[in-house]
Amino acid sequence: MITETSGLHHVTSISSNPQRNVDFYTEVLGLRLVKRTVNFDDKYTYHLYYGDDVGTPGTVLTFFPFEGARQGRVGRGQTSATAFVIPEGSVDYWIDRLESKDVDVDTPHTRFDETVVPFRDHDGQPLELVTGTSDIEPWTDGPVPADKAIRGFHSVTLDSLNPEQTSTVLETLGYESIAQDGDRTRYKTAGTRASVIDVLDRPGAQRGQRGVGTVHHVAFRTPDTQTQEEWLAPLSEIGLRVTPQKDRQYFKSIYFREPGGILFEIATEGPGFTRDESASDLGTELKLPPWLESDRTMLEERLPEIETAITTGAD
Ligand code: ZN
Repeated sequence: MITETSGLHHVTSISSNPQRNVDFYTEVLGLRLVKRTVNFDDKYTYHLYYGDDVGTPGTVLTFFPFEGARQGRVGRGQTSATAFVIPEGSVDYWIDRLESKDVDVDTPHTRFDETVVPFRDHDGQPLELVTGTSDIEPWTDGPVPADKAIRGFHSVTLDSLNPEQTSTVLETLGYESIAQDGDRTRYKTAGTRASVIDVLDRPGAQRGQRGVGTVHHVAFRTPDTQTQEEWLAPLSEIGLRVTPQKDRQYFKSIYFREPGGILFEIATEGPGFTRDESASDLGTELKLPPWLESDRTMLEERLPEIETAITTGAD
Protein backbone atom coordinates (compact mmCIF):
# COMPACT_ATOMS: atom_id res chain seq x y z
CA MET A 1 0.00 0.00 0.00
CA ILE A 2 1.24 3.48 -0.83
CA THR A 3 2.21 5.40 2.30
CA GLU A 4 4.03 8.51 1.20
CA THR A 5 3.97 11.48 -1.14
CA SER A 6 7.26 13.30 -1.55
CA GLY A 7 5.75 16.78 -1.21
CA LEU A 8 3.85 19.49 -3.04
CA HIS A 9 3.24 19.38 -6.80
CA HIS A 10 1.60 22.80 -7.25
CA VAL A 11 -0.48 25.44 -5.51
CA THR A 12 -3.39 27.11 -7.34
CA SER A 13 -4.73 30.54 -6.39
CA ILE A 14 -7.31 33.06 -7.52
CA SER A 15 -6.13 36.41 -8.86
CA SER A 16 -7.62 39.40 -10.62
CA ASN A 17 -6.10 40.96 -13.74
CA PRO A 18 -4.02 38.40 -15.73
CA GLN A 19 -1.48 40.96 -17.00
CA ARG A 20 -0.72 42.17 -13.49
CA ASN A 21 -0.43 38.55 -12.44
CA VAL A 22 2.14 37.83 -15.17
CA ASP A 23 4.06 41.01 -14.38
CA PHE A 24 4.28 40.25 -10.67
CA TYR A 25 5.28 36.59 -10.84
CA THR A 26 7.73 36.91 -13.74
CA GLU A 27 9.16 40.42 -13.38
CA VAL A 28 9.10 40.81 -9.60
CA LEU A 29 9.57 37.24 -8.34
CA GLY A 30 11.52 36.01 -11.37
CA LEU A 31 9.52 32.83 -11.94
CA ARG A 32 9.05 31.54 -15.45
CA LEU A 33 5.59 31.53 -17.05
CA VAL A 34 5.68 27.88 -18.12
CA LYS A 35 2.14 27.54 -19.47
CA ARG A 36 -0.66 29.76 -20.61
CA THR A 37 -3.83 27.78 -21.02
CA VAL A 38 -7.43 28.04 -19.83
CA ASN A 39 -9.19 26.67 -16.79
CA PHE A 40 -10.45 23.34 -18.15
CA ASP A 41 -13.55 23.67 -15.93
CA ASP A 42 -14.21 27.28 -17.05
CA LYS A 43 -12.68 27.82 -20.48
CA TYR A 44 -13.28 31.59 -20.54
CA THR A 45 -10.72 32.06 -17.77
CA TYR A 46 -6.98 31.69 -18.15
CA HIS A 47 -4.98 29.17 -16.21
CA LEU A 48 -1.44 30.52 -15.86
CA TYR A 49 1.41 28.36 -14.51
CA TYR A 50 4.68 29.69 -13.10
CA GLY A 51 7.70 27.67 -11.98
CA ASP A 52 11.35 26.91 -12.60
CA ASP A 53 12.59 26.63 -16.20
CA VAL A 54 10.41 23.59 -17.01
CA GLY A 55 7.80 23.74 -14.27
CA THR A 56 9.23 20.92 -12.16
CA PRO A 57 6.62 19.58 -9.72
CA GLY A 58 7.31 21.30 -6.39
CA THR A 59 7.96 24.69 -8.02
CA VAL A 60 4.62 25.41 -9.69
CA LEU A 61 2.29 28.19 -8.61
CA THR A 62 -0.78 28.51 -10.81
CA PHE A 63 -3.57 31.07 -11.10
CA PHE A 64 -7.12 31.42 -12.26
CA PRO A 65 -7.26 35.17 -12.99
CA PHE A 66 -10.84 36.46 -12.73
CA GLU A 67 -10.93 40.10 -13.77
CA GLY A 68 -13.42 41.94 -11.56
CA ALA A 69 -14.00 39.00 -9.20
CA ARG A 70 -14.77 39.53 -5.54
CA GLN A 71 -11.82 40.01 -3.20
CA GLY A 72 -11.41 37.04 -0.85
CA ARG A 73 -10.38 37.03 2.77
CA VAL A 74 -7.60 34.80 4.06
CA GLY A 75 -8.58 32.96 7.24
CA ARG A 76 -9.44 29.65 8.84
CA GLY A 77 -10.34 26.83 6.53
CA GLN A 78 -7.81 28.01 3.96
CA THR A 79 -4.18 27.89 2.98
CA SER A 80 -2.95 31.05 4.66
CA ALA A 81 0.54 31.38 3.14
CA THR A 82 2.60 29.94 0.31
CA ALA A 83 6.37 29.95 0.89
CA PHE A 84 9.27 29.78 -1.57
CA VAL A 85 12.87 28.78 -0.85
CA ILE A 86 15.55 31.44 -1.34
CA PRO A 87 19.29 30.85 -0.82
CA GLU A 88 20.95 31.76 2.49
CA GLY A 89 22.42 35.24 2.24
CA SER A 90 19.80 36.57 -0.18
CA VAL A 91 17.37 38.11 2.34
CA ASP A 92 18.65 41.69 2.00
CA TYR A 93 18.60 41.42 -1.80
CA TRP A 94 14.96 40.30 -1.72
CA ILE A 95 13.80 42.94 0.74
CA ASP A 96 15.43 45.65 -1.40
CA ARG A 97 13.98 44.14 -4.55
CA LEU A 98 10.44 43.87 -3.17
CA GLU A 99 10.50 47.35 -1.61
CA SER A 100 11.86 48.89 -4.81
CA LYS A 101 8.87 47.44 -6.66
CA ASP A 102 6.38 48.75 -4.08
CA VAL A 103 5.54 45.27 -2.79
CA ASP A 104 3.86 45.09 0.62
CA VAL A 105 6.69 43.39 2.59
CA ASP A 106 7.03 42.76 6.36
CA THR A 107 10.12 42.74 8.56
CA PRO A 108 11.84 39.33 8.42
CA HIS A 109 11.63 37.02 11.42
CA THR A 110 12.98 33.65 12.48
CA ARG A 111 10.76 30.56 12.49
CA PHE A 112 12.11 27.07 13.20
CA ASP A 113 15.69 28.38 12.64
CA GLU A 114 14.89 29.77 9.20
CA THR A 115 14.55 33.40 8.14
CA VAL A 116 11.08 34.21 6.85
CA VAL A 117 10.22 37.27 4.76
CA PRO A 118 6.42 37.67 4.59
CA PHE A 119 4.92 39.74 1.78
CA ARG A 120 1.78 39.98 -0.32
CA ASP A 121 1.25 40.02 -4.06
CA HIS A 122 -0.74 42.78 -5.84
CA ASP A 123 -3.99 40.95 -4.98
CA GLY A 124 -3.14 40.67 -1.28
CA GLN A 125 -2.22 36.99 -1.43
CA PRO A 126 0.12 36.11 1.49
CA LEU A 127 3.49 34.80 0.32
CA GLU A 128 6.77 34.11 2.11
CA LEU A 129 10.41 33.75 1.20
CA VAL A 130 12.22 31.29 3.48
CA THR A 131 15.97 30.72 3.53
CA GLY A 132 17.10 27.18 2.90
CA THR A 133 18.31 24.66 0.38
CA SER A 134 16.54 22.84 -2.43
CA ASP A 135 17.55 20.58 -5.31
CA ILE A 136 15.88 22.99 -7.76
CA GLU A 137 18.03 24.96 -10.17
CA PRO A 138 16.51 28.39 -10.72
CA TRP A 139 15.44 29.74 -14.08
CA THR A 140 18.48 31.64 -15.33
CA ASP A 141 16.82 33.73 -18.05
CA GLY A 142 14.72 35.62 -15.54
CA PRO A 143 15.35 39.06 -14.04
CA VAL A 144 16.73 37.72 -10.71
CA PRO A 145 20.41 36.65 -10.57
CA ALA A 146 20.72 32.86 -10.29
CA ASP A 147 22.48 32.99 -6.91
CA LYS A 148 19.48 34.84 -5.43
CA ALA A 149 16.63 33.25 -7.35
CA ILE A 150 13.68 31.32 -5.95
CA ARG A 151 14.21 27.55 -5.81
CA GLY A 152 10.71 26.17 -5.76
CA PHE A 153 8.34 25.90 -2.83
CA HIS A 154 9.38 25.68 0.78
CA SER A 155 5.93 24.95 2.19
CA VAL A 156 2.35 26.02 2.59
CA THR A 157 0.67 27.01 5.85
CA LEU A 158 -2.79 25.52 6.40
CA ASP A 159 -5.11 27.47 8.72
CA SER A 160 -7.19 24.39 9.42
CA LEU A 161 -10.71 24.34 10.87
CA ASN A 162 -9.83 20.98 12.37
CA PRO A 163 -6.07 20.64 12.95
CA GLU A 164 -6.39 17.18 14.50
CA GLN A 165 -8.09 15.71 11.46
CA THR A 166 -5.87 17.65 9.04
CA SER A 167 -2.97 16.02 10.86
CA THR A 168 -4.49 12.56 10.25
CA VAL A 169 -4.76 13.34 6.52
CA LEU A 170 -1.17 14.60 6.37
CA GLU A 171 0.07 11.51 8.22
CA THR A 172 -1.80 9.34 5.73
CA LEU A 173 0.05 11.23 2.97
CA GLY A 174 3.36 10.38 4.65
CA TYR A 175 3.99 13.57 6.64
CA GLU A 176 5.32 13.47 10.18
CA SER A 177 4.99 16.12 12.83
CA ILE A 178 8.54 17.40 13.45
CA ALA A 179 8.24 20.64 15.44
CA GLN A 180 5.83 22.92 17.22
CA ASP A 181 5.93 26.62 18.04
CA GLY A 182 2.89 28.30 19.57
CA ASP A 183 -0.14 27.69 17.36
CA ARG A 184 2.00 26.26 14.52
CA THR A 185 2.89 22.60 13.99
CA ARG A 186 5.38 21.63 11.31
CA TYR A 187 4.98 18.48 9.23
CA LYS A 188 7.53 17.06 6.85
CA THR A 189 7.70 14.24 4.36
CA ALA A 190 10.85 12.53 3.10
CA GLY A 191 10.96 14.37 -0.26
CA THR A 192 13.86 16.59 -1.21
CA ARG A 193 11.77 19.62 -2.20
CA ALA A 194 8.52 21.32 -1.19
CA SER A 195 8.28 18.73 1.57
CA VAL A 196 7.10 20.92 4.49
CA ILE A 197 3.56 21.81 5.61
CA ASP A 198 2.70 23.96 8.60
CA VAL A 199 -0.70 23.63 10.25
CA LEU A 200 -2.13 26.41 12.42
CA ASP A 201 -4.45 25.87 15.37
CA ARG A 202 -6.36 29.13 15.84
CA PRO A 203 -9.75 28.31 17.36
CA GLY A 204 -12.04 31.33 17.19
CA ALA A 205 -10.08 33.13 14.47
CA GLN A 206 -12.05 34.48 11.53
CA ARG A 207 -12.94 32.10 8.74
CA GLY A 208 -11.57 32.73 5.31
CA GLN A 209 -13.67 33.62 2.32
CA ARG A 210 -12.88 32.40 -1.16
CA GLY A 211 -12.03 35.03 -3.77
CA VAL A 212 -9.20 37.05 -5.27
CA GLY A 213 -5.98 36.79 -3.25
CA THR A 214 -6.74 33.36 -1.77
CA VAL A 215 -5.46 29.86 -2.49
CA HIS A 216 -7.90 27.60 -4.33
CA HIS A 217 -6.20 24.26 -3.68
CA VAL A 218 -2.94 22.56 -2.84
CA ALA A 219 -1.64 19.61 -4.88
CA PHE A 220 0.68 16.82 -3.75
CA ARG A 221 2.81 14.90 -6.19
CA THR A 222 2.76 11.23 -7.04
CA PRO A 223 4.98 9.58 -9.69
CA ASP A 224 2.31 8.24 -12.07
CA THR A 225 -1.32 7.19 -12.57
CA GLN A 226 -0.66 3.79 -11.02
CA THR A 227 0.54 5.24 -7.71
CA GLN A 228 -2.26 7.81 -7.93
CA GLU A 229 -4.80 5.00 -7.99
CA GLU A 230 -3.10 3.38 -5.01
CA TRP A 231 -3.99 6.48 -2.98
CA LEU A 232 -7.73 5.80 -3.27
CA ALA A 233 -7.81 3.03 -0.64
CA PRO A 234 -5.91 4.78 2.20
CA LEU A 235 -7.81 8.03 1.60
CA SER A 236 -11.23 6.42 1.62
CA GLU A 237 -10.22 4.45 4.71
CA ILE A 238 -10.01 7.72 6.66
CA GLY A 239 -13.38 8.82 5.30
CA LEU A 240 -12.35 11.12 2.44
CA ARG A 241 -14.41 11.31 -0.72
CA VAL A 242 -12.11 11.45 -3.70
CA THR A 243 -13.18 12.66 -7.18
CA PRO A 244 -12.72 10.56 -10.30
CA GLN A 245 -9.43 11.19 -12.09
CA LYS A 246 -9.35 14.34 -14.24
CA ASP A 247 -7.05 14.90 -17.21
CA ARG A 248 -5.24 18.20 -16.71
CA GLN A 249 -3.14 17.63 -19.85
CA TYR A 250 0.18 18.23 -18.07
CA PHE A 251 -0.69 15.85 -15.22
CA LYS A 252 -3.64 13.77 -14.07
CA SER A 253 -5.47 14.76 -10.91
CA ILE A 254 -7.73 13.51 -8.16
CA TYR A 255 -9.21 15.86 -5.55
CA PHE A 256 -10.67 15.69 -2.06
CA ARG A 257 -11.58 18.24 0.60
CA GLU A 258 -9.81 17.53 3.87
CA PRO A 259 -11.75 17.99 7.15
CA GLY A 260 -9.95 21.26 7.90
CA GLY A 261 -11.75 22.84 4.93
CA ILE A 262 -8.91 22.85 2.41
CA LEU A 263 -9.14 21.34 -1.07
CA PHE A 264 -6.31 18.86 -1.71
CA GLU A 265 -5.26 17.32 -5.02
CA ILE A 266 -2.90 14.50 -5.87
CA ALA A 267 -1.27 15.12 -9.25
CA THR A 268 1.01 12.90 -11.34
CA GLU A 269 4.54 14.16 -12.01
CA GLY A 270 4.17 13.64 -15.75
CA PRO A 271 3.76 14.20 -18.60
CA GLY A 272 4.75 17.77 -17.72
CA PHE A 273 4.70 21.12 -19.49
CA THR A 274 6.85 20.14 -22.48
CA ARG A 275 4.02 17.88 -23.61
CA ASP A 276 2.72 20.44 -26.15
CA GLU A 277 5.54 22.98 -26.61
CA SER A 278 9.33 22.86 -26.52
CA ALA A 279 11.22 23.79 -23.35
CA SER A 280 12.47 26.99 -24.98
CA ASP A 281 8.95 28.11 -25.98
CA LEU A 282 7.14 27.39 -22.72
CA GLY A 283 4.48 29.96 -21.87
CA THR A 284 4.74 31.96 -25.08
CA GLU A 285 1.47 30.84 -26.70
CA LEU A 286 -2.05 29.95 -25.66
CA LYS A 287 -2.12 26.16 -25.37
CA LEU A 288 -5.41 24.27 -25.37
CA PRO A 289 -6.14 20.59 -24.74
CA PRO A 290 -7.41 18.67 -27.80
CA TRP A 291 -11.03 18.84 -26.58
CA LEU A 292 -10.95 22.67 -26.59
CA GLU A 293 -9.04 23.22 -29.87
CA SER A 294 -12.31 23.73 -31.77
CA ASP A 295 -12.97 26.78 -29.54
CA ARG A 296 -9.55 28.33 -30.17
CA THR A 297 -10.59 31.27 -32.37
CA MET A 298 -13.45 32.20 -30.07
CA LEU A 299 -11.28 31.91 -26.95
CA GLU A 300 -8.41 33.92 -28.46
CA GLU A 301 -10.85 36.73 -29.19
CA ARG A 302 -12.48 36.59 -25.83
CA LEU A 303 -9.51 36.17 -23.48
CA PRO A 304 -7.67 39.38 -22.62
CA GLU A 305 -4.29 39.77 -24.29
CA ILE A 306 -1.26 39.24 -22.07
CA GLU A 307 2.27 40.24 -22.80
CA THR A 308 5.44 38.88 -21.30
CA ALA A 309 8.95 40.27 -21.50
CA ILE A 310 9.84 37.22 -23.60
CA THR A 311 7.14 37.65 -26.25
CA THR A 312 7.78 41.39 -26.36
CA GLY A 313 11.48 40.67 -26.90
CA ALA A 314 10.73 38.15 -29.66
CA ASP A 315 8.43 40.56 -31.48
ZN1 ZN B 1 -4.41 21.73 -9.25
